[in-house]
Amino acid sequence: MAVLDGCEGSSRTWNLEERSCPQCGEEMDVYTLRGRVVEDAVCPKCGYTIKAQEQVVPGMKEKEEQ
Ligand SMILES: [Zn+2]
Repeated sequence: MAVLDGCEGSSRTWNLEERSCPQCGEEMDVYTLRGRVVEDAVCPKCGYTIKAQEQVVPGMKEKEEQ
């Protein structure tokens, strides 16, 4: 079996990620590209909208520890 994983070449490969709604915790499908949301995602439960271009990386705040 030859299975090639990864996104080589194509610059328009979106990832479908499951994220927890920041408001109610419901799982929602979000399309991302390189960590950025590329399409508005609406929570099916509470209606919270994650807007495109927003950075949605829960638990990955930039920290500077020295
Ligand atoms: Zn929600």
